Amino acid sequence: MDERKLIVLSGPSGCGKDTILRRIRELDPSVAANISYTTRTPRPGETDGINYHFVSREEFRKNIDSGMMLEYNEYAGNYYGTSKKTINGFLEKGTTVVLTIDVNGGRNVKSVYPGAMLLFLMPPSIRDLRERINNRGKMDEEELKARLRIAEEEILYARQYDKVIVNRDIEECAQECLAAIRAWGKAGPESSSNTTDKLEDT
Ligand code: 5GP
Repeated sequence: MDERKLIVLSGPSGCGKDTILRRIRELDPSVAANISYTTRTPRPGETDGINYHFVSREEFRKNIDSGMMLEYNEYAGNYYGTSKKTINGFLEKGTTVVLTIDVNGGRNVKSVYPGAMLLFLMPPSIRDLRERINNRGKMDEEELKARLRIAEEEILYARQYDKVIVNRDIEECAQECLAAIRAWGKAGPESSSNTTDKLEDT
């Protein structure tokens, strides 16, 4: 099982992870996207089994107790987690799979699969991030504040990641991520570089 095919894509809420992953998969359809389990309610346009497996808190707890989760975390009041069996299924087939998960999840995945690549997507600026989170809609004031607070905390974790890429432009960023994923698959940890100093703090 080649752990280097396991890619964790993290970054603060609103930094564009889902859009970038969608573009990566258009550029290279052999890259798979893992579908996480969550207890949060679907946003407009989200579909069960496509964006997430939307489950009740009770079902999620059962999944934890049965040992099904590779990792899980509570984020802004909801559970999110990754199925161990699904990930192992991808790796056994030799498929490159991307997990869009938070920094706690990333750290947990790396402790189980040290060969996995942790890729951090950085917003071009804090102001830009605030705008993107604000524009998401369908969120109460409390959740919005929680997401902003977590986002600012998450950025501090970027230094622990194998590679940091700034999302200034979707196309450029997706190409850069795909190049990093391919380089990691070929060369392993030696090819990593961390460039956290690119964030403008305006
Ligand atoms: P959202 O509610 O915006 O879809 O996701 C909130 C946060 O949870 C994001 O940072 C997202 O990447 C993260 N997340 C999504 N799925 C998982 C998962 O399976 N495990 C963990 N630890 N975080 C996840």
